[in-house]
Parts: sequence; C-alpha cells; structure tokens
Amino acid sequence: MKQKRPKVLLIYTGGTIGMINDPNTGSLKPFDFKSLSLQIPELKNFNVELSSVSFKNPIDSSDMKPEIWVELAELIGLHYNSFDGFVVLHGSDTMSFTASALSFMLENLAKPVILTGSQLPIGTIRTDGKENLITAIEIAAAQEKGKPIITEVCIYFEYKLYRGNRTFKYNSEHFDAFKSPNYPHLAEAGVEIMYNKPAIAKASKGKLKLHTSLNNDIAVLHLFPGISKKITTTILQSKGLKAVVILTFGAGNATTKDWFIDELKTAIKKGIIIYNVTQCQQGRVVQGMYQTSSKLKQIGVIGGSDITFESAITKLMFLLGSKSATTQIKKALAGNLRGELSN
Ligand code: ASP
Repeated sequence: MKQKRPKVLLIYTGGTIGMINDPNTGSLKPFDFKSLSLQIPELKNFNVELSSVSFKNPIDSSDMKPEIWVELAELIGLHYNSFDGFVVLHGSDTMSFTASALSFMLENLAKPVILTGSQLPIGTIRTDGKENLITAIEIAAAQEKGKPIITEVCIYFEYKLYRGNRTFKYNSEHFDAFKSPNYPHLAEAGVEIMYNKPAIAKASKGKLKLHTSLNNDIAVLHLFPGISKKITTTILQSKGLKAVVILTFGAGNATTKDWFIDELKTAIKKGIIIYNVTQCQQGRVVQGMYQTSSKLKQIGVIGGSDITFESAITKLMFLLGSKSATTQIKKALAGNLRGELSN
C-alpha cells in the first residue's frame, strides 16, 4: 500500500523571511506564497503535501500582540485535524514570545508546531531562510511508525530545533540567533536530522484544548542597584495591575531594604502576583538560598525556577486569562505546565 504523504500547513505571519527582492524596484516586498515552489524549487522534491496560508497584513514581529496569538492558535485549531504538522513563519525578534504563548494556548498538543524565520530575506543570495524553512517543513512532516516525532511548539533556527518556551533571541547579527541555555536542543540538522529523543516531550493523549483568553495586566520590574522607591511604588501601584515579573539578581536575589519588601508585601496583600525570574540567562531562582531572597519567599513571592522571561510573561497572560483562583495561579506558576521550567 502506498504511504500517505504527510500534510503540512505553512502559516506566514510576517518577518524578514517572507521578503523577496522586487527586481523592478530593487526593494524588499512580501513574498507571494502562491509561488512558493517557484521561489524554492527544492520543495518539489519533498514527499510532503504542502499548503500555505498567509496573514492578510504580514507584520514585523515587533508588532506582535496577544490578539494575533489568538488568531494563530485558532488557525492551528481550525486545521488541526486536517494536517500532520504546522510551520509558522515569523520574525525572529519576538519569536520566543510567540512560541511560548502558543505552548500554553495549545493544551494537549500532539502534532508539531515549528516556528522559523531568518536573518536575511528568502530572496537574497546568502539567505539563511531557505535552509530554515526546508528543514522546518521536514521536521513538521517527520513521523515514526505513523506518529509525529515532535509533538510540541518548537523553534527551528540555524540547524537546531529547540523547545520554543525555553528559548530567547540572543543575537541580532548572527544566523545562530537563539539560545536555550536551560534545556537541551531537541534535534540537530546535519547530513541527517538527529533527534534528541529523551529531551522531546511525550505526545499528549487528550484532545487538543485551545485557550484563547489572555490577560496582559502585567508589569515588569527590572531590578538594578540603586532602583528608586518612587518608581518602584509607581509600578506596583499601577491601576488594574494583576501580576509583576521581578527580574532579580543571580539565584533570585533582591535588595533587602525594608521599603522594597514592604512595597511587595502591600502589593501581594492586594492580590497582585509577584513572579521572581532571574536576570541570568542560565541557572535558576532558588528563593531562600541567600538571605537576600528568603524575605521574598516569606512574603509570598513566587519563584520561577529557570523559566525564561518570555515564558514567564506569556504564562502569566495565559493563567490570568484562565480566571482561576489566585492560589491556583500561584501553584501553576511555581510548577511545570508545558516543559517551560525545571522543578
Ligand atoms: N524585525 C524582524 C522581525 O522580527 C526581524 C526578523 O524577521 O528576523 O519581524
């Protein structure tokens, strides 16, 4: 019996990858996805049935917002049963935020959702976009014994596949633009694509559940020596504030000054959630390891372990949007939902 070709849906949201050089004007313009195989003839050699859909108004990913994440999640939900895998073309600037958001919004995901993009437009000679796109499609189509190898939201960039909610963009010049310092890569593309099986999430058994309610009543308090009481108070007393990510030093440490602890305590008493995320790119928050974090623990600040800033923000949006009780939200923040933190 002839094996069915895997079906992959390519979703173009915008970003550098989708630009080509217009030979008439010499400037960059959005790619016409109908002529995809004309631009990338290699795609014809693939044993994949490829379909594509493009956002009506492709964006630079710096304009990304929760409403578009909802649109994206709903699009994947709508086509979920008709495709074996999804590739999302996205600008690299906020790709880690989108990958993290989607990981929370798509509960029980059992198919690959691979985000990719490029540092140079697909129409330029030295583009990194072609390899990124071709391999992302190959990964989205990859199956073993009729089942997808990858069943989570990932970023594929410059020969490496990462768990999306563990990444951040760390380089705006090199092709190798992403890092995942607290979790190993899931695959590496060389002559063959080598999958790091023990690191790949197990497929969920339940039905896909879409979460499309996000709440962005969140602030960020990036600590630095000399941070002012006046500004800290203004942030913590913002109207409508529901949660604050405090970006702390080292293993989750902050100043022990009374005014700082008192401000946080007052906020927590009002029901505001304080989430402790480290400024370090590697390692984790361990509240209580130093005296400078034990007070935070005592007053009810939630430690974020080794979560990235990108994941922390989108996890909060997702949990606040779920309208669960504050105690439940706090429990979920400290624990692991989609492989975003180690505990
Ligand atoms: N500014 C662009 C974006 O994020 C950069 C890129 O595409 O990589 O949309």
